[in-house]
Amino acid sequence: MKALVYHGDHNISLEERAVPNIQKPTDVIIKMIKTTICGTDLGIYKGKNPEIADGRILGHEGVGIIEEVGESVRQFKKGDKVIISCITSCGSCEYCKKQLYSHCKDGGWILGYMIDGTQADYVRVPHADNSLFKIPDTISDEIAVLLSDILPTGHEIGVQYGNVKPGDTIAIVGAGPVGMSVLLTAQFYSPSTIIMVDMDENRLALAKELGATHTINSGVENPIDAIFKISEEGVDVAIEAVGIPQTWDVCQKIVRPGGHIANVGVHGKKVDFEIQQLWIKNLTITTGLVNTNTTPMLIKAVASNKFDLSKLITHHFDLSEIEKAYEVFLNGSTEKAMKIIIDA
Ligand SMILES: [Zn+2]
Ligand SMILES: [Zn+2]
Repeated sequence: MKALVYHGDHNISLEERAVPNIQKPTDVIIKMIKTTICGTDLGIYKGKNPEIADGRILGHEGVGIIEEVGESVRQFKKGDKVIISCITSCGSCEYCKKQLYSHCKDGGWILGYMIDGTQADYVRVPHADNSLFKIPDTISDEIAVLLSDILPTGHEIGVQYGNVKPGDTIAIVGAGPVGMSVLLTAQFYSPSTIIMVDMDENRLALAKELGATHTINSGVENPIDAIFKISEEGVDVAIEAVGIPQTWDVCQKIVRPGGHIANVGVHGKKVDFEIQQLWIKNLTITTGLVNTNTTPMLIKAVASNKFDLSKLITHHFDLSEIEKAYEVFLNGSTEKAMKIIIDA
């Protein structure tokens, strides 16, 4: 089979690999239909995760058909079409019992990281019963890919952890696929003002279409000043959706007393945390990796057309062209790329 393989910093290639086999009775083997490239994969490519083994197949998102099931899998059978959750979880450890699936003692984020992932013709998924979701007929395969990671990440780590409430003023710093997912799912909770900050005019225009009430181009104006012009007290919820010191800094400077900073971005460097300014503000600051505990609810919301998700998908490639797809996603701004779908 074909697979996109990691060989270290700035070194990936499409290679021929053996089709995976069932290793444990809780495994399934899935024939991939569609996968995608995540911002996290770009981070891996750029060297953010030197702990990843040479030879690892990347990818933690996608949709496929179950080809083979281990003998103790109960919820799925050969031929089922499924969404592969970016988080694998056993369902029975201490963390799983608290629905902190991202910290499962025998799972968490392992696909395309600790074990071979989804950017391939086939993938082995451990703990299948707790790590896959059936797709209703009303959701197309490519929209279903968005439910592997970006929608639950935006919803759980941005919106729910940020405690977005009716009438709130919120700011989302970063209009990438996850920032857009925050924007869409925040609207379940009826915030009155949604400010999107990014440096890319195309992304800001899309954010307006998807429900942002205000957009700020941080390449043109100071986003902190611009936000205080819109809301003189600052924002109730500041959601960091990039993962760099500059965007963290915007969030810590715009949040109002009693507010929330929800960090969603994957950081590779330390930030300057201004505790000397913030200690007095009665803030809640949250961080985290998605648990995918709200994925079943999001599947129902997507199936009933609550979102206009097709606008998030900008490019399509065949798995044989995945190296080119990485190139395009790396140059997301000039290529006007948001979410790229890869057909296996
Ligand atoms: Zn992802
Ligand atoms: Zn577990």
